[in-house]
Amino acid sequence: KANRKFHPDDTVVQVTDQVAFGGGNFQIIAGPCSVETEDQVETIAKAVKESGAGMLRGGAFKPRTSPYDFQGLHGEGIRILLEVKKRTGMPIITEIMDIGHLPLFEQVDVIQVGARNMQNFELLKELGRIRKPILLKRGLANNIKELLMSAEYIMAGGNEQIILCERGVRTFETYTRNTLDLSAVAVLHELSHLPVVVDPSHATGAARYVKPMAMAAAACGADGLMIEVHNDPKHALCDGPQSLTPEQFDDVAKAVMKIRKAL
Ligand code: PEP
Ligand code: MN
Repeated sequence: KANRKFHPDDTVVQVTDQVAFGGGNFQIIAGPCSVETEDQVETIAKAVKESGAGMLRGGAFKPRTSPYDFQGLHGEGIRILLEVKKRTGMPIITEIMDIGHLPLFEQVDVIQVGARNMQNFELLKELGRIRKPILLKRGLANNIKELLMSAEYIMAGGNEQIILCERGVRTFETYTRNTLDLSAVAVLHELSHLPVVVDPSHATGAARYVKPMAMAAAACGADGLMIEVHNDPKHALCDGPQSLTPEQFDDVAKAVMKIRKAL
């Protein structure tokens, strides 16, 4: 179902009347790694919306490497996102880690499957039963074929609104958190009709590399970007080093839009 051979036209994932990915539609998803407070999310949301972001992100359930790190606000985090959605009109995306939490996601616009759950096949099957867009992130050490087969798991159940996300993969390189595989965008567009979003924040792990990689992603035809933004990156509870300030995000969004226009 994800294969371009049997579906030559680009899939357009329509999130709201105004926000769509694919088939020429490009969107920037921006927001903090984790939802921390209502003030924090509202401040960031208003700023990134002003800069042109179409969607707000924020993690409520966080897949942290250490069990002693901040795990997210869970249901309270989703409540905050929904409150800020109401105030700003921005659709929201947040990560699911356990299908038992699905009732909390009822008003969430797009459900994210994080890199660590890309091959949680039972979770994927359950998400195939619902009718809501899913953003599926490439696993830390998964190849393109495996990413597409995971999309297939969701689509096999009848949910065909999938956005693929390249967020870097593990290599021997240590100067960046992961290695951004931009050729995946071209390959995925060839093999599949699904929209492809690039996450330069998790790919590089460093705020200073986000702008060049975001520009490159736009230049190679990505259907959108996911960028972490924090109003106080130094004190962020998660992923501060890769988070842009709202001012930095504004600069990146402008540079990306210029490239989009030049395509
Ligand atoms: C995230 O987007 O917050 C996240 C945890 O990303 P990834 O699953 O790509 O590591
Ligand atoms: Mn993060």
